[in-house]
Amino acid sequence: MFITPEELTLHSLSVDESYGPNDLDVGGASIHPAGRLTLHVVAELVGREIRIRGDLSTAFEMECDRCATAIEFPLNRCFDLYYRPLSTIARVEEIEIPKDELEMAFYPAEGIDLREVAKEQVILALPMKLLCNPNCRGLCPRCGVNLNIESCQCAPDPTDSPFAFLAHRQDR
Ligand SMILES: [Zn+2]
Ligand SMILES: [Zn+2]
Repeated sequence: MFITPEELTLHSLSVDESYGPNDLDVGGASIHPAGRLTLHVVAELVGREIRIRGDLSTAFEMECDRCATAIEFPLNRCFDLYYRPLSTIARVEEIEIPKDELEMAFYPAEGIDLREVAKEQVILALPMKLLCNPNCRGLCPRCGVNLNIESCQCAPDPTDSPFAFLAHRQDR
């Protein structure tokens, strides 16, 4: 759905949207939508800015960064965003944007696509690193077994140890 400044001059908008797993392309190879995304927002005009606040919830299936086990990752996020008309920086190359405005978003004359808002918020909320549990032991770098489930007979590689550098120190 598109939110246009013209409509907001008449009244604020309360919108509920729902997107299917394939409607928002936020994936990486190891991130898969695990259900619909529901979005509730209130949009209003504040001066010339469009304020969009609300929340979204969805879930993803992601892989543990250490052991590659699939984990369901529920995602809920609240947001309160201000968008300025893009026309205010029509000559963006010539204007130096003050540092504190770098976070400010802008909207084109035709308005704001709520789907893009949802997508952006999901990307911001996705963790950079995800572990199936904080103590995940990962995969053996030699034989590849999942060390959370089984142990293996591989001798630990001394150069993998975080203290390996100490050995070199003592040599000197
Ligand atoms: Zn893991
Ligand atoms: Zn092993």
